[in-house]
Amino acid sequence: MGGITLPSRTAQEKLVPTLGQRTMNDPKFFLFDLPRSGRPAPFRIPEEWYPGVRDHWHHATSRRAVDPIGGIRALVIHAAVGLSSAGAMSVMKAHRASWHWLIPGTDEEPHGKVAWACVPEASAALHVRDLRSYPAVNGGQAKVNDWSLAIQIVNSRSRDVVEPFSDWQVEIAAEIVRYSWAKYPNLKHVVSHALLDPERCSDPGAHFPWKRFRDLVLNGAGDMY
Ligand SMILES: [Zn+2]
Repeated sequence: MGGITLPSRTAQEKLVPTLGQRTMNDPKFFLFDLPRSGRPAPFRIPEEWYPGVRDHWHHATSRRAVDPIGGIRALVIHAAVGLSSAGAMSVMKAHRASWHWLIPGTDEEPHGKVAWACVPEASAALHVRDLRSYPAVNGGQAKVNDWSLAIQIVNSRSRDVVEPFSDWQVEIAAEIVRYSWAKYPNLKHVVSHALLDPERCSDPGAHFPWKRFRDLVLNGAGDMY
């Protein structure tokens, strides 16, 4: 933990993707399916309950309309841009949205150690609007929250500043997908919020390294844990 470090020229360039990069890495097309073979053996992820989060479950979650194990079909990737973990959680505490895991920002204490668990996996989080759907995701069914899990990645410590995602953030997100792949026999789709709700959302953003993330999910991160 040193003092303030100015981003390198390379890092600064990453903040503003060029038009070419944007079309090459458009979050509205972030989607891949988990193959039937290659499912990992069950394992634990480094997670802790976000302090005090239980008090908000009653208003910030709903009962799943599907079997909480066999009914899980998708995992949705979100990013909170311009918010700290505390800022993101204030949204959940206001019962306006929720997610199963929150990945802390690069300058926050748990970064590199644990993800915050925020909602019990057996409950539906509030993270995609009910009417939204996409043909290639669970046969185009709506009410995505009922049959999905959600990861929220904290991107920045201050509003309007988009930071590069850290390697650890991408790796822990991939490990959570692998953990879920091992646990939920019918989990198939890994999808961005932007694909499901392109009119309103662009997360996790064009700077999220989707190809690397997908490779980590499919091939493993080298047994991090
Ligand atoms: Zn989102």
